[in-house]
Amino acid sequence: MNTNQSQAPFQVRVVPVTPLQQNCSIIRAPSGKAAVVDPGGEADKILKAAEEFGATIEQIWLTHGHLDHAGGAEAIKRATGAPIIGPEKEDTFWLEAIAGQWAQYGHPGMGEDCAPDQWLNDGDTLTLDRIEFGVITTPGHTPGHVVIYHEGANLAFVGDVLFSGSIGRTDFPRGDHATLIASITQKLWPLGDLQFVPGHGPTSTFGKERQSNPFVADHITGYQGAEQKPANEIDQKLSKRWQ
Ligand SMILES: [Zn+2]
Repeated sequence: MNTNQSQAPFQVRVVPVTPLQQNCSIIRAPSGKAAVVDPGGEADKILKAAEEFGATIEQIWLTHGHLDHAGGAEAIKRATGAPIIGPEKEDTFWLEAIAGQWAQYGHPGMGEDCAPDQWLNDGDTLTLDRIEFGVITTPGHTPGHVVIYHEGANLAFVGDVLFSGSIGRTDFPRGDHATLIASITQKLWPLGDLQFVPGHGPTSTFGKERQSNPFVADHITGYQGAEQKPANEIDQKLSKRWQ
């Protein structure tokens, strides 16, 4: 994906990883300095994609503690020296269960438990090579889930909060459906009509989901009120998913 260059001083490449095809994103500043969002596993594949992208991974950002989002974080850290930042500390119990969960899902060794260097809180700012990203807490799928966004680029990395045409599961321990709906309508929608990279599947925009998502369309939630900022158009050539 290539966001509008006049507004977004970075490029994004999406690398689906693990048998769950989780969308790991590499955010590359013009200098080549990069952050990787949710390296869920297959660290070698992520490192190879980063190298071909001309990206030097300096930070690892996690939206939440699930195995397919955080299972490769420690391996990327060992390979690059980059610190692991996020999610919010309520996801500790998930981060400490990653290796066991992968074994339970029939893929022992796919990922390892993770100990972040820094937790994130609502309203925090992440800085990549002087480019600032906002952080909001969005519980519901997991209690410590965060969303990372860039205002000028109208782009958000939403993990498993929201998908194109769906929302995150809430049947896991400490998941809560009403809390997730509130996170989406009260935390995401007020950001405007952002384009978003979900944890799985294709990208979409908040505006499109507010029209047609069967769980959180405005006519279902009764939401009315977010400012309407236009989402950037996705560059079709560069949005081609990295395989
Ligand atoms: Zn998840």
